[in-house]
Amino acid sequence: MKMKTIMTVQGPVCPEQLGFCQCHEHLAISRGASWEKNPVLLIDDPEKSTRDAARLLKSGGRTVVDAQPGGCNRVEHDLLTISQKTGLNIIASTGFHKLCFYPEHHWLYTASPDELCRIFTHELTVGMYSSIDTDFPSGYSYIRAGIVKSALDRENLTSIYQKLFTAAAGAALASDVPLMVHIEQDSDPVSLFSFLKELGVHPKRMIFCHMDRAIPDLDIHKKLLSEGIFLEYDTIGRFKYHSDLREIEIFQSMIAEGFEDQLLFSLDTTRARLKSYDPKAIGLDYLLTTFVPLMKDHGITRQQIEKISHHNFVKVFTDDHE
Ligand SMILES: [Zn+2]
Repeated sequence: MKMKTIMTVQGPVCPEQLGFCQCHEHLAISRGASWEKNPVLLIDDPEKSTRDAARLLKSGGRTVVDAQPGGCNRVEHDLLTISQKTGLNIIASTGFHKLCFYPEHHWLYTASPDELCRIFTHELTVGMYSSIDTDFPSGYSYIRAGIVKSALDRENLTSIYQKLFTAAAGAALASDVPLMVHIEQDSDPVSLFSFLKELGVHPKRMIFCHMDRAIPDLDIHKKLLSEGIFLEYDTIGRFKYHSDLREIEIFQSMIAEGFEDQLLFSLDTTRARLKSYDPKAIGLDYLLTTFVPLMKDHGITRQQIEKISHHNFVKVFTDDHE
């Protein structure tokens, strides 16, 4: 049987080339609606981002997912440049983010579910569209996305979000890639899980992100993990939310319940957490320099860390499901 590959901005790579993986980062965000909402959502200097990427590689990192979807200030050409200059594997995202990150009258609002599904699938199978922060997709490059990113906002499954999730699920199914979801504070991830499962997305292709900061009730985490999905935790080095020791407790709690094969981690970087933009920032290599040693100090084993940083990532992309 042919080994399944994972699509990066430089082309397909084999699972064994992925190494240490960070499943939800940001290395390029252009100036637009995201920045207007929050000034740290601007990562516009590819030379600086390249320096952070190089630092990550030097610390032992190998692969990141860039979680900025098209139409929402994604800069796929910068991702390609950063990857070419450093050798870091970068997996780009198609899909959609919270609607507050798009200008009024954006095509995402008016396109039909079928149109959206075709657009997302095209980005995964042919190439990502250019200039789609404002214009309806037409011109594209041959740089391909490798994952579908989506977002559950606190308004939950209103009709427009149902349309967007239906299109995102269709594209993830058609291209057999994971569907990654931003989970917002006070949203209902359990209802979303049922909705996506109903659409045919296999639980083992779903990654729910940020639940460590968005959903304080850990029983909800366990309920979803027991359904088979992956949780990506990234409230690490984000002390306005909680300490790294609290984060370790959350990992330990899930591991104690037997879910070590379904956990992933990352930093969800912004301009404020990349060292090349702010010398006082934690930096893209904080997991390797600081958090992984802390996990080891608190009894999380090397084997468990290898699952969280590599094997689980490979599984969510490549395991076969019927
Ligand atoms: Zn993010």
